[in-house]
Amino acid sequence: MVEIQILEKTDEFMRFIVNGVNVPFVNALRRIMLTEVPTMAIDEIVILENSSILNDEILAHRIGLIPIKTDLDSYNLPEECKCESEFGCNLCRANLTLETKDTDKISTIYSGEMKPENPDIIPVSDKIPLVKLAPDQKVKFEAYARLGKGKKHAKWQPVSMCTYTHLPEVKIDTKSCDSCGKCVKICPEEIFIKTSEGIKTQNVIDCTLCMDCVDSCSQNPSAIEVSWDKEAFIFKIESTGALQVERIVTEAAKIFDNKIKDFSDQLKKGK
Ligand SMILES: [Zn+2]
Repeated sequence: MVEIQILEKTDEFMRFIVNGVNVPFVNALRRIMLTEVPTMAIDEIVILENSSILNDEILAHRIGLIPIKTDLDSYNLPEECKCESEFGCNLCRANLTLETKDTDKISTIYSGEMKPENPDIIPVSDKIPLVKLAPDQKVKFEAYARLGKGKKHAKWQPVSMCTYTHLPEVKIDTKSCDSCGKCVKICPEEIFIKTSEGIKTQNVIDCTLCMDCVDSCSQNPSAIEVSWDKEAFIFKIESTGALQVERIVTEAAKIFDNKIKDFSDQLKKGK
């Protein structure tokens, strides 16, 4: 049975232990989060004026990489939208426009200066610099944000970090340990503490499995044994801000589920 223990959770970051699964399962979940959970990103841009030092393609590329707050419930993936239009409709596309003001000073144009058509579809941060303008230079464009998947382009990845590690296990053989304290000094995660009753462990979950403690032990064989639970993993997920991290995980689970259902339906059909 799968058990989940949440260690940390905010809108942007989540760390949890999942127990009772194996590497193929957690890796499938990780890859679905990276490549198949849709988010919004600017996919098309019409540059009406650009006298800045950046050419149109570089400017468009920079704008495309801005994480955009995503509303999965109100928008359709362009390929699944009923409009079937290449240009899109207001259920599969959100516009953002920008026109810089004339100024006689050097200015930096930030993501927050783009004017959204839908006030919910805006850049995650309004402090991302797009371009620097010299006096009398001007930029004017219309950008179209659409839902997409990370497997097509990394700009649609909902996560900036998505990793798992095995749950570590650290055992000290109290019979052979002479409390020399070398492991206490060498461990970068400060897992060992020296007490009057000998060496004890704390926050074992932070262990990076570097094995320095095992090598530093003055006993032969080492009194410390570091191993990992083959069925338990620590998952760490950080969102780009486009979606709440909990939504990313639940969407990934839904996609995974649909894939299995689809597989089993196809299997039945083939009979
Ligand atoms: Zn549409």
